[in-house]
Amino acid sequence: MPETRYVFVTGGVASSLGKGIISASLAKLLQARGYKVTIQKLDPYLNVDPGTLNPYEHGECFVTEDGAETDLDLGHYERFLNVPTSQANNVTTGRIYQNVINKERKGDYLGKTVQIIPHITDEIKRNIKLLGSKHKYDFVITEIGGTVGDIESLPYVEAVRQLKWELGNHAAVVHLTLVPYLNASGELKTKPTQHSVKQLLENGIQPDVLVLRTEHELSQDIRRKVALFCNVDSKAVIQSIDVKTIYEVPVKMQEEGLDEIVLKKVDLPIDKKPALKEWKGFLNKLYKAEKTVKIGLVGKYVELADAYKSIIEALNHAGTYNDRKTKVELIHSEELNDQNAAEKLNGLDGVLVAPGFGHRGIEGKLSAIKYVRENNIPFLGICLGMQCAVIEYARNVLNLKDASSREMNERTPDAVIDLMEDQKNVTDMGGTMRLGAYDCNLKEGSNSFNAYGKADVKERHRHRYEFNNEYLEAYEKAGMKAAGCNPDTGLVEIMEIPKHKWFVGVQFHPEYSSTVLKPHPIFMAFIKAAIQE
Ligand code: GLN
Repeated sequence: MPETRYVFVTGGVASSLGKGIISASLAKLLQARGYKVTIQKLDPYLNVDPGTLNPYEHGECFVTEDGAETDLDLGHYERFLNVPTSQANNVTTGRIYQNVINKERKGDYLGKTVQIIPHITDEIKRNIKLLGSKHKYDFVITEIGGTVGDIESLPYVEAVRQLKWELGNHAAVVHLTLVPYLNASGELKTKPTQHSVKQLLENGIQPDVLVLRTEHELSQDIRRKVALFCNVDSKAVIQSIDVKTIYEVPVKMQEEGLDEIVLKKVDLPIDKKPALKEWKGFLNKLYKAEKTVKIGLVGKYVELADAYKSIIEALNHAGTYNDRKTKVELIHSEELNDQNAAEKLNGLDGVLVAPGFGHRGIEGKLSAIKYVRENNIPFLGICLGMQCAVIEYARNVLNLKDASSREMNERTPDAVIDLMEDQKNVTDMGGTMRLGAYDCNLKEGSNSFNAYGKADVKERHRHRYEFNNEYLEAYEKAGMKAAGCNPDTGLVEIMEIPKHKWFVGVQFHPEYSSTVLKPHPIFMAFIKAAIQE
């Protein structure tokens, strides 16, 4: 068991270069060598967590098993590593300040002036080291959100500087930058990288590895030049060239020797290159698939595909394992109605209605569901998508014309979806939903039971409203059945229409636990039904 090694991943030049994917790829390569690895994201904003953020701001909110509402990069970490993350894997500036201020109020710093250095930086360092000491990881990879030079990132960069000093050869810094290509002169430009490394150096950090994002192959000359200007070994200047799928990045990083450079830096032996057999098996399937499966994803945030990151990836995983190219068509729920549903959903093999909050776009979701229900098109409803399926059935089959969810219409005469009892006195919005993994018992013979092949499952949640059990009997009599319930509370977790080709609404979020090597059973069964002639 080696002592924990810490790798910090910083970014320069531009945002959205894919620090999360580089971090996840490095982690994957170290994991393949037998190390116990985790990845952590430090986000430099003041929200305590991203739970209250509109998806337009930062994309999807990813939920961990222990009920933390986190950055979507944690989804990448789990999909790559196939290991669950936790609250400790995502820390924001808001949480850091909250902890420090709480300590100050308790009197922990009595007599001292509380300052960014050392108090905030110490709290950042404590959160980084917690994963290593408490969970005994061999590697903790910490991704610093934002771009070096941002005011918000400064305390994090300072914490990394201090840790690098304290940990010596047990720490390494990987800096990700961009090498832009100028079309007019046909040249790749390294100056932004040089400046960004200078910025790091000004903050007292010498990076050990530079990963350069590029659209074109980087010559040895360019690498040598960057190495010279940035005090980095030229072998430690590596390229991250654009690839067709993010899942190819670990393979590319292995070719570039990213894991070996890091191992050398942190004083660990470099044994044989791992074969990444299963991972490459998935890639092979992904590239070899000839037939296509076309899924419509109905939601109100479709302008920003990141809002549905985990769902799109889960569909990709399941499509690939069913030997299909997965084509996800994003359909705006506000543009759907009963009149155009047939035209808008034309040619789809299956329709998924997305999670969401609030009233906007609901009617379009109901129209989509009515259409797929009546036309026997495979349907998967997730969270609000399941709740909409319940509302649609009430209005069009049970003849409860004004049925709704209490969330959309407080005065509905038939609240077939109602606020959960323990939510009734909730006043704070942050972190107060029913969050994280809860048990669900499946009914034998249901689509869901057949998908999982077992009766007891545990899935992640993020909701305040639930199916109103007072109506269950009426639903079951009319052909929509509860296929899964929470054993402790009786809360309905799954509604299905057994007579339909495949119609499943789940209150939980299966998308959060689909990984490259372990596609989710519900998504697998949904795609299977979608491709069935
Ligand atoms: N708004 C619904 C609720 O809170 C559904 C939430 C969701 O789709 N994640 O119950």
